[in-house]
Amino acid sequence: MADRLDVLIVGAGFSGMYMALKCREQGLKFEVIEAGSGVGGTWYWNRYPGARVDIQSLEYSFGFDETLEQEWRWSERYAPQAELLAYANHVADRYDLKPHIRFSTRVTAAHWDAAADGWNVTLDSGAVIAARFLVLATGCLSVPTDVTFSGIGDYRGRIYRTSRWPHEGVDFTGQRVGIIGTGSSAIQSIPIIAQQAAHLTVFQRTPNYSMPAHNGPIPEADWQEWLQDPRAYRARSRNTVGGFWNEAREETLATQTPPDEIKAELERRWAWGGFRILSGFADQGIDPDANRIIASFVAAKIREQVKDPKVAELLTPKDHPFGTKRPCVDTGYYATYNRDNVELIDLRSDPLETFTATGIRTQGRSFDFDAVVLATGFDAMTGAIERIDIRGVNGETIKEHWAHGPETYLGLMVAGFPNLFLITGPGSPSVLTNMIHSIEQHVEYVADIIASLNAAQAGRIEATREAEQLWTDHVDQTAAMTLLPQANSWYMGANVPGKPRRFMPYAGGLHTYTDICNAVKAKGWEGFVVARGAQVISESRTFTTYPPPPENMAPHLMELAMGRVAQWMQDHGRA
Ligand code: FAD
Ligand code: NAP
Repeated sequence: MADRLDVLIVGAGFSGMYMALKCREQGLKFEVIEAGSGVGGTWYWNRYPGARVDIQSLEYSFGFDETLEQEWRWSERYAPQAELLAYANHVADRYDLKPHIRFSTRVTAAHWDAAADGWNVTLDSGAVIAARFLVLATGCLSVPTDVTFSGIGDYRGRIYRTSRWPHEGVDFTGQRVGIIGTGSSAIQSIPIIAQQAAHLTVFQRTPNYSMPAHNGPIPEADWQEWLQDPRAYRARSRNTVGGFWNEAREETLATQTPPDEIKAELERRWAWGGFRILSGFADQGIDPDANRIIASFVAAKIREQVKDPKVAELLTPKDHPFGTKRPCVDTGYYATYNRDNVELIDLRSDPLETFTATGIRTQGRSFDFDAVVLATGFDAMTGAIERIDIRGVNGETIKEHWAHGPETYLGLMVAGFPNLFLITGPGSPSVLTNMIHSIEQHVEYVADIIASLNAAQAGRIEATREAEQLWTDHVDQTAAMTLLPQANSWYMGANVPGKPRRFMPYAGGLHTYTDICNAVKAKGWEGFVVARGAQVISESRTFTTYPPPPENMAPHLMELAMGRVAQWMQDHGRA
């Protein structure tokens, strides 16, 4: 075994790269292991046509270095995948990170070595690397679901997954193409594939809400604000629920606003585009009546865009409140169904039975395809972590520890797994936010922990089980206050058969979460045990830093939210 590392980082997306940079700043001996042959993570793997961010690039970009910020110019409001990948490579080259990354290599196991206060990490080559700290920067949306279809092995055409798109690209010109799925990946790729293909058949099981991106040049007002004071612009984004500026109105209630004012406000937000419609009214994520007002506005927008009323009806979500599944942001998605060469198949009324040698057969029809695209999603948040055989102090695996759904302390650490850090793990705001701002906050926090351990000459840090349980309850209860758990979403693990149902990200907002993390640190790493061998250096077993209830919350919303929490407590046997 080679000399022990201070830090082994798994994954070379934005998380792993920034973690590597922080390790170098501290003079630590580190290495990054990456399964792909290049950096960029999400933007390395997801090369399907139309792939781009749905948070404005001015905000979905690193803010830790002003010079980096100033030297990079985004071409559009929402940068396309190729530009994001170029940016990831620019970051890697600018900070000379690539020599520290072992590409095309997968981490398969990590076992805690109590005698050494560290991890023995096994690679797919069979090599074992010893490291004091293990950082899983493995991505929340990096492992495609294992979805299989009967007869798929018999199909003689080509099959493409949006999340594993060929690097050389695919030309669908003149082809008959089928696509399964209508999540964000499908909604971005369908309009482009439809322009190329002779015919496109979309197989939809559940419709999603999608808002127009109105992509184009960065809006002049944003650009001017950015140029004036990039630091203030960043700070404003970070100090929000979602880690991006969304003009949230925290006191205006849809249920108490006259219909013409609601319409004007929603029209304004729709015209701006993207996620802005998610934060027009303080009650839309809590009160079903308020939510229905926004949902019916979006349903009317779908009807406006789709000429055939039957198709518009099929494209309108009915099984979940607006915003409780990850909403999509599109360019021309709904209008694509007005094309003569595009057909929508509703798998609810005509279920998919099997692939055949030449295509797909549903209960009612047969389709021949030259190519089929699977836009079927990810084993989100826990998938990449659980696929590594990680064994902690008692030999328990993380998968076993998470048998009832993920339990973490702050989404950062897991009890019984010392010196193991998760970047944007379950229990942190992560996928509910602009991920770059969440990544920066997590990486800087982990770097802080490592620095403080080294300053104290400590060997390890571990989240206590008490703190983990209190935090996990808080994560569950925060979600329970909202409408979020009411959808069969990937946030809930509902897209993977057999996966425990638990709302995985922390819904309290990035700003609140950051304050909590800072308070945990200020209290001497509350909820953690810091030790060297058998000697405990500091110990604070429980977690007490709950955010105060929002002062400006309307009484009836508070009552609704607290009622749901009381129900949750009753259902889960909490006092
Ligand atoms: P990733 O980029 O997923 O990188 C993780 C890396 O770890 C991967 O390269 C993977 O190969 C590697 N890895 C995993 N397991 C192992 C292993 N065992 N051994 C070795 N290597 C391993 N977020 C937003 O905020 N805004 C957006 O607009 C947005 N758009 C998205 C679009 C798509 C198509 C997808 C899939 C996700 C999107 N996201 C978006 C979320 C996106 O994942 C994050 O924004 C961000 O890129 C995550 O960076 P990361 O480094 O944490 O993880
Ligand atoms: P997704 O949202 O989970 O969508 C998967 C789709 O496949 C759903 O429509 C699902 O239907 C369908 N599906 C899955 N299994 C199926 C089966 N057996 N039969 C029929 N249909 C099936 O996955 P995604 O589109 O890849 O997006 C995942 C996340 O990545 C997004 O929510 C977002 O966070 C991120 N993302 C962002 C962007 C962006 O705009 N920047 C783009 C892509 C992805 P059901 O709903 O019925 O399960």
